[in-house]
Amino acid sequence: MSRVSADYKSERLEMSKRNKMPGALKRCAALLCAVALAGGLLATGARQAAAQVAAPQRPTAAVNPRSASVVAATSEVLKETGEIRQLGVLRAVKSGAQSRAEIERMLVRNLDEQSTPAELHASEVALKKLGLVPADFQFRSFLIELLTEQVAGYYEPKTQEFYLADWIDLDGQQPVMAHELTHALQDQHFNLLRFSKWPKGDSDAELAAHALVEGDATLVMTFYVMRDLKRVAAMMKSANAEGASSEKIERAPRAIRESLLFPYKQGMDFVSQVYRRGGWPLISEAYKALPQSSEQILHPEKYFAREAPVKVDVPELAELLGKNWTRLDYDVNGEWSYFQILDEYLRAEKESQKAAAGWGGDRFALYENRTTRNVLLAQLTAWDTATDAAEFFDAYVRRTERRYKDAIADTRASVPTETRRVWRTTGEGLVVMERQGARVAILEGVPEKTNVSALLKKVLGTS
Ligand SMILES: [Zn+2]
Repeated sequence: MSRVSADYKSERLEMSKRNKMPGALKRCAALLCAVALAGGLLATGARQAAAQVAAPQRPTAAVNPRSASVVAATSEVLKETGEIRQLGVLRAVKSGAQSRAEIERMLVRNLDEQSTPAELHASEVALKKLGLVPADFQFRSFLIELLTEQVAGYYEPKTQEFYLADWIDLDGQQPVMAHELTHALQDQHFNLLRFSKWPKGDSDAELAAHALVEGDATLVMTFYVMRDLKRVAAMMKSANAEGASSEKIERAPRAIRESLLFPYKQGMDFVSQVYRRGGWPLISEAYKALPQSSEQILHPEKYFAREAPVKVDVPELAELLGKNWTRLDYDVNGEWSYFQILDEYLRAEKESQKAAAGWGGDRFALYENRTTRNVLLAQLTAWDTATDAAEFFDAYVRRTERRYKDAIADTRASVPTETRRVWRTTGEGLVVMERQGARVAILEGVPEKTNVSALLKKVLGTS
């Protein structure tokens, strides 16, 4: 599932009046950088969503009338942000205001620069195969609409400039400025550009790195707001102001919405734990020893213990699948994505969290048949213990029975057991699951005539 890329924009999320201040603040903390849409298969989307800040700004025609007030406020907010974050201001930061049209143009340009049409297609196919988005879901246009709605500002590492949305009042924007200017300070001290050139193929690690960056900026923003309750009031006023819509994000498929928020919500929880342990200096240290997986973000004790992900590989399968099969994607899901993949159908958060915990490592390979457009998703997962693997296996069986409502257990291929399940679906081929010790292999969309045992042996590396 999709990947977050290094663009630091602020989004506005509906400040629900229901939330108590802390919750509201947390929710407001989600006045986010439209940087992410999340790890593994979800992370890929996140990268595409997040890849919004890279391209250098083409000079806009007229100076935006709101720019003057943004520029005037920038140095003051930067100074205070540096004090809170205990990072020196090494350079002034160029800033300004931009219209919705300008921001949308930047979003589209960066999305297309950061993600090829093939990558966007692969994300869309993967999200549909996992049943996380509707069959008619248009990923690219959806992302652009969502981000255009949500962006309230952004910082751009390439040009070291930041811009605020000109349709939101400046008072309500000060916390967003503190968030964005934290990115400017992170960039001056830790070089954020390296996050936009993240090597492909491990979106879960990229999501984790972004959770540090966004969690850090969101924690600083929280401290900034809490210094003066007038700021909280101004922020809530602007979050509920005219033009502040969250219609699109609330209508977004759950996995995409929650993965968009991951770097901010779970990111801030993670960074708060690091802060409790060693204050801002330890958070700065983390830029030298980045969190390596969404598992480390969700379980900071595993970050402190440097429990590294297990490297998992899936061999090339096209040969066994036959003619016209192409591998579209090869990436890492991570604990966060498995939680989303399970809970989309189990709708039992505690159960899904428990089944996704114990994640050791994984790899998925996504294939598409060029002529039939049939899709095969091969996943190989490694768990900390055989018990963790069994728990995940059972949960994924329950998820699969709901994902493929019409599926019937294929007893000819294999008698359903605790370690192997085969289903025949209508129109989506076979679904095959096998657990061997602490590893679970899952194949969804296996063409009818395929030699299932040979395919499983190949994936599990026992052939
Ligand atoms: Zn941000």
